[in-house]
Amino acid sequence: MITHHPDIATLMAFSAGTLPEPYAAVIATHLAMSEQARGIARNLETLGGALLEKEAEVTLNSAALERLMSALDSHAVEPRPHVIPGELPLPLRSYVPGGLESVRWQWTGPGVGRTTLAWGKDGRSRLMLMRVAAGCPVPEHAHGGQELTLILRGAYRDRFGLFGIGDIADHDEDVEHQPIAEPGEDCICLVAVDARLAFRDWLVRLLQPLVGM
Ligand code: ZN
Repeated sequence: MITHHPDIATLMAFSAGTLPEPYAAVIATHLAMSEQARGIARNLETLGGALLEKEAEVTLNSAALERLMSALDSHAVEPRPHVIPGELPLPLRSYVPGGLESVRWQWTGPGVGRTTLAWGKDGRSRLMLMRVAAGCPVPEHAHGGQELTLILRGAYRDRFGLFGIGDIADHDEDVEHQPIAEPGEDCICLVAVDARLAFRDWLVRLLQPLVGM
């Protein structure tokens, strides 16, 4: 089941239309994969609309907000979605018209490949696919900005837990982590990043300009 959802602030920015395209594409794909996430997004839109219109009859009490927040963290019984090769979630199809099997990976390290799908209008944020070979780690890194990761295939584990298909990891610049792909299957993720990832390891940092991370 899907257990990791985006931050409420990210969903609010999405429904307000203020997220740069790379991030909006990740959220739209997540919503296409998760009924529970669609429910949360609908509630947020209702709340946001009520706040904007200052409708007297809609009272935004703390209990309503609390329910919403706990819905974000709830472990509702929702089966894991399947991402069938050639049948990507609708919001992703225009970015990867040939499906995941058609992707030409640019290998940027042992077992770690990626391909850029789109850049944001800001010229800094970008949408990409990452592929991490089964059992392989992504070098430990911090983030130059927000990093939004949606699992499309396989799974990975880091200090925040296990992330499987449909899960989202929503990290800001304060977070450092080292995802490791679960054994058995390569992990393919849809990732939106802002600026460059800040790898801790000096060697990786040294190589960063060369591999273009
Ligand atoms: Zn990260």
